[in-house]
Amino acid sequence: MSAKIIDGKQIASDIRNELKAEVEKLKTKNIVPGLGVILVGTDAASISYVTAKEKACADIGIYSDDNRLNENTSEKDLLALIDKMNKDPKINGILVQLPLPKHIDEEKVLLAIDPVKDVDGFHPVSIGKMVTGQKAFISCTPHGVLQLLIRSGVKLEGAEVVIVGRSNIVGKPLANLLMQKSDMGNATVTVCHTRTKDIASHTKRADIVIAAAGRPNTITADMIKAGAAVIDVGINRVEDATKKRGYRLIGDVDFENVSKKAGFITPVPGGVGPMTITMLLYNTVESAKIANGLV
Ligand code: NAP
Repeated sequence: MSAKIIDGKQIASDIRNELKAEVEKLKTKNIVPGLGVILVGTDAASISYVTAKEKACADIGIYSDDNRLNENTSEKDLLALIDKMNKDPKINGILVQLPLPKHIDEEKVLLAIDPVKDVDGFHPVSIGKMVTGQKAFISCTPHGVLQLLIRSGVKLEGAEVVIVGRSNIVGKPLANLLMQKSDMGNATVTVCHTRTKDIASHTKRADIVIAAAGRPNTITADMIKAGAAVIDVGINRVEDATKKRGYRLIGDVDFENVSKKAGFITPVPGGVGPMTITMLLYNTVESAKIANGLV
C-alpha cells in the first residue's frame, strides 16, 4: 500500500484563492485588510520569512505595513510602535517576527499586542479563549495542520490522535484544538515528549500521528499502524553536498518507508510549511471582518 500524499502547496493555494475572493468582496465595501509587520535586526532566516509573508499578503490584496527596525532598537521604541499599530484602524493584524534580539523581552512584546489584532494567536488571551472553546485566532501552524487533515477527508471525530512534541506553538495548541467539542476536534488525543516511556506503544494505535519534535526519524514505519494519517510538522536541515546551499530540508518522519504503510502523509517540504503563512492571511482577513462587524 502506498500513502496518499497530502499536497500542502495545493491546499494552501486553494485557501489563498478563497481568501483572495473574500478580500475582493471586502474591497467593494471599502475594507482593505491590513497586516502590520515588524522585523528587528538582520537575521537572514527572519528576513526571508517576513519577505515571504509580505509577498503572500500582496498576492491576495492584503495591505502590509512593513517595519524593518535596526538590531539596536530599544524595547521601549518597539513597544511604542506596537501601541501605534494597536490604535491604527488600517491595521487588523500585528506580526512581530521572532526571535527578537536578546535585549528585548519577547514575552512583554507579545503581551503588548492587542488580542483583537493577535493574528499569530500567541497572546495568552487568544490561547485562553481557544482552550475554553471560544472563538479565537488560532495559531497558524496548528490551524494549518487541521486544514490539511480536514481538506484531505481525514476524519477527526472519534479518531485516536498521537502528537509527538509539546511546544507552546505546535504540540500544545494542536492537542487542545483536537480535543475540543467542535467540527475541528472531537478526537481523543495523546501527547508524547522526551519523557514519554515508549512512544511507539502510543503511535502504533493512532489513526493520526502528528510529528512535531524537530528530530529526523522520530517516526519510523514500525511505529505506525497501516493506513494511519501521518502529518510531519518537523523541519530539519541535513548536510547535502549535491545541493548548492549545502543542505536539504527533511521532516521528523522517515518519509520513504512510512509512506509505504500510511494511508495519508505530508511531504517535507511541501506539506505543513506552505500552510503556516496561509493561515496568517486567513486570520488577518477574519480580523478585518470582525473589526467591521461582518462576523
Ligand atoms: P520545540 O519547541 O523544540 O519542541 C519540540 C518538542 O518535541 C518538545 O516538546 C520536545 O519534548 C519534543 N521532542 C523533541 N525530541 C523528541 C524525541 N526524540 N522524542 C519525543 N519528543 C521529542 O519545537 P517546535 O517549535 O514545536 O517545532 C517542532 C518542529 O516543527 C521543528 O522542526 C520546527 O522547525 C518545525 N516547525 C515547523 C513549522 C512549519 O511551518 N512547518 C512551524 C513551526 C515549527 P520536551 O518538551 O520533553 O523537550
